[in-house]
Amino acid sequence: MRIGVMGGTFDPIHLGHLVTAEAVRHRFGLQQVVFVPTGRPPHKRGNDVSSAEHRYVMTFLAVLSNPEFGVSRIEIDRLGYSYTFDTMLALGEMYGPDCELYFITGADVMRDIHTWHRAPELLTLCHFVAASRPDYTLCERFRQGGHIHLVEVPAMAISSTDLRRRVRAGEPIRYLVPEAVENYIYEHRLYLNGAR
Ligand code: ATP
Ligand code: MG
Repeated sequence: MRIGVMGGTFDPIHLGHLVTAEAVRHRFGLQQVVFVPTGRPPHKRGNDVSSAEHRYVMTFLAVLSNPEFGVSRIEIDRLGYSYTFDTMLALGEMYGPDCELYFITGADVMRDIHTWHRAPELLTLCHFVAASRPDYTLCERFRQGGHIHLVEVPAMAISSTDLRRRVRAGEPIRYLVPEAVENYIYEHRLYLNGAR
């Protein structure tokens, strides 16, 4: 069995995440891609991130209609900071030894991965997939030091940062996020104020 794991803040989840997950799922024949919203992201400590529950529900709504996508509360329900190392270890135990895990990231995240908590061990725990992302280069040197796969995915110049800015500025986010996520954002008046 092969399972993809896509970690992220998902504040909010957008079509860039979904298109990337689907392309990687198809490329490696993954049975499932599990989206894992971060609890308290270690690298976004200073920022004011939307509540974990809002981010979880938006992720849930975004994957609801696709039986090959799922969402996990593993990092949200864990106290303290979330480290990918702990998450992958826990998911590895949960799925058992016959399961190969594929951790999916965009090129921007893969660039910094060597700075992560227990990075050398993390790279031995699972496969890593670095997906292309507009404005970031997929470097060959990413391959060094572990089983890292580089994958070209359809270019989606969408970021959560820009979506939050759009909502604040009254610009449309339609067709950039799933409709249910768009409705949720407006219903709960997310991103209207604050420095995010
Ligand atoms: P923010 O602007 O708040 O950082 P983001 O759009 O980068 O949000 P994240 O939740 O930080 O979204 O990203 C989760 C994962 O999805 C990361 O591995 C990131 O590289 C990847 N990703 C995000 N957007 C895209 C995209 N448009 N194309 C490919 N990968 C993406
Ligand atoms: Mg990001």
